[in-house]
Formats: sequence, C-alpha cells, structure tokens
Amino acid sequence: ALQALNLRHAFGETEVLHGLSLQVGRGEVVAVTGPSGSGKSTLLHLLGGLDRPNAGEVSWGGVRIDTLSTQARAQRRAQAVGLVFQHHYLLPDLDVLGNLMVPGMLLRRDLRGRARELLAAVGLSGRERAMPEQLSGGERQRVALARALVARPAILLADEPTGSLDTANAHAVATLLIELAKQDDSGVLLVTHDEALATRADRRLHLLDGALTDN
Ligand code: ATP
Ligand code: MG
Repeated sequence: ALQALNLRHAFGETEVLHGLSLQVGRGEVVAVTGPSGSGKSTLLHLLGGLDRPNAGEVSWGGVRIDTLSTQARAQRRAQAVGLVFQHHYLLPDLDVLGNLMVPGMLLRRDLRGRARELLAAVGLSGRERAMPEQLSGGERQRVALARALVARPAILLADEPTGSLDTANAHAVATLLIELAKQDDSGVLLVTHDEALATRADRRLHLLDGALTDN
C-alpha cells in the first residue's frame, strides 16, 4: 500500500532522515518507535505527502506522489490516506457528523451512510449532533479515527494516536484503530511511545540516528 525509498530530509543544516526505506502492505500494521526528536513525525509527514522529502521516493499503491504538485498530492491524499494525530484536529464549528462528512465533501461523494456506520463502530451512535467541545478526550479521538477511515483509505498514518489518553481510553482507541483498519485491509503505519500498542503491530521498526531497524 505504501512504499518509501531512500528518503532523506533535513531542516537547515541538520539532516534528520539519512536515506531510509520502508514498505507497508495492505492489511499490515507497522509500529515505529524511537526517541523524541529522532524524526518519527517528520517521517510520517513525508509518507503522508504533507511535506516533500529532500531526496528519495514516496509511493501510494505503486504511484509516486513526491513528484506531484501540492494540490495534486492533497487530492490523492483525500482518497488514499487517513491521518490521525495525538491532537484530534476536529473542526470545532462542525458537529460530529459534520466532521465525518468533510472527506466526502472533498471527494464529492456521499459518505453519510459510511459515516454513521463508523460512528456506531466507535461506539458513538446517537452523538451525531454533539459538538467536539462536548465530547471527552477519548470520544474526540474516536471521532478523529472514524473521520480518518470514512473514505476507506488504503493507508492509515497515525502519530501518537493514543498519546493524550489514559490507559483505558488508549487501549480502546488502539483496538478500534487496528480492528477497523484490518476490516478495510488498510495498511497502517503507527508512531507510538506506547509499548502496549507497539506490541500489537504485525511488525515493529525503530528509528534511530536517521535510520530504521527491525525491532
Ligand atoms: P517526538 O517523539 O518528540 O514527537 P519525533 O521523533 O516525532 O519526536 P520530529 O518531530 O520528527 O521528531 O523532529 C525530528 C527533528 O527535526 C528534531 O530535532 C526537530 O527539532 C526537527 N524538526 C522537526 N520539524 C522541524 C521544522 N519544521 N523545522 C525545523 N526543525 C524541525
Ligand atoms: Mg513526533
């Protein structure tokens, strides 16, 4: 589903990623761990096409995206990639269902049925009209996860998705993330400090000194 080849990336004089490669297959969950500042979020941004690497290639479903314009990348991202971060980034002025309809609007597809189905899957049926500020942290993160999956992306990228949650909520969100992604045969790349979550991945990678090693 996702492939990166010889990625290099620097901020100013400091090179953070020294030419790393990785592959995530459909239905595969890969966890990336590594010390703070090792470049995990940078890697995720490059893989999600939010930034362009200084060198190397990123492909989604066999199609190179690092060479596309920012706009073309955003269009493809809306179809192919779901993103979840430590902070939920829900739109505060839209209710729960409204937030879940955003990907459908970008894609000009009616995803209302799918949105309701996912809300049920994350245990939030009946909360369609709630505003984000009226939800608990765990509930918001479940909405963010549902929104990331609403367009059935082939790739789910998650940066510390449970990082702001207590143990019980972290476990619940992690379980949903893995189960829902597997249901759709999405490939998942998951950055996490959470050992309990990392051990549930199919494969583990460790980012250190700009390079990835099996873990
Ligand atoms: P954490 O576990 O704390 O989230 P991380 O592994 O995600 O850390 P990154 O956020 O990818 O680390 O940062 C890697 C390095 O790149 C750090 O030294 C950071 O200061 C630097 N860096 C990241 N983003 C930028 C930026 N936009 N401009 C300059 N330096 C940056
Ligand atoms: Mg980070």
